Amino acid sequence: MFSSSNRRDFLEMLVGGAAGLSLSKITRGQQHSSSITANRISDNLVEVTGAGGNVMVVAGPDGLVMVNGGLPELSVDLLKVVSNQSKAQRVQAIFNTDWHLEHTGSNEILGKAGAKIIAHENTKLWLGAEVFVEWENRTYKARPREALPNETFYTTGKMIVGNEQIEYGHMPQAHTDGDIYVFFPRSNVLMAGDVVSVGKYPILDYTTGGWIGGLVDATKTLLKLANAETRIVPGTGPLQTRADLEAQSEMLATMKDRLVKLMRQGMGPKDMIAAAPTKEFDAKWGNPELFISNAYRGMWGHVRELGGIV
Ligand SMILES: [Zn+2]
Repeated sequence: MFSSSNRRDFLEMLVGGAAGLSLSKITRGQQHSSSITANRISDNLVEVTGAGGNVMVVAGPDGLVMVNGGLPELSVDLLKVVSNQSKAQRVQAIFNTDWHLEHTGSNEILGKAGAKIIAHENTKLWLGAEVFVEWENRTYKARPREALPNETFYTTGKMIVGNEQIEYGHMPQAHTDGDIYVFFPRSNVLMAGDVVSVGKYPILDYTTGGWIGGLVDATKTLLKLANAETRIVPGTGPLQTRADLEAQSEMLATMKDRLVKLMRQGMGPKDMIAAAPTKEFDAKWGNPELFISNAYRGMWGHVRELGGIV
């Protein structure tokens, strides 16, 4: 299914792309030196960090399966590290836990090389459209056809890679409206994507369907999958435990209740920030301003189900 000449093209593309990348690094003065590191975390799983977002790699007889693909500008370097993880080298499939660039940056190269790109249908829709993300004041161009997920789903799915089972599922309208988890029960590793945030409040990307009520539900979905030994991999940052996830889930549930109450009092985001509703959480989660203002915007999209506001 992947001929040797295709494989050669793919490897040449990686090498050629690497030369192009170092040139652009020099010309643009960016500092993306190779801090990309692979760590084996179970018999079958290798975690790769330093490419802008956390990446998981599992090797099977038909090639490698990746969860997330780092930033576009680091993709060539990332894929070199990934292909060193097994003799198979070829990436047969990649999951995107949401549409954001730090997870979908390898889609172009892998899609062109014939890999399966698996994501929720909404992630495909965002990647195929020009998206203006208001809270970043940034426009994301539509991605080329080869970068779009070519196997989408709506609820859950399963896949076998070697002796590792993969269970994946949608977490509706949480950080975005296309968030998925990817769970490896045998290794007890849970890729949580940006639904789990470390050292900063989670991003509620209301522009693409995220909101705090959905994020509360998403953390509950993850808690059902995890036990005390599960290693939970956030979109960025270090491995987390179930206890960390519980803390985030409780913080979000508390904040949802408080922000809804403030909204019913007629407060806008500035008033909410001034009321310091996150006070006891800020030592752990940092500056709450973006979190509160995005939560506010997201709640407006759910104003009828919240009740008592309009
Ligand atoms: Zn994201």
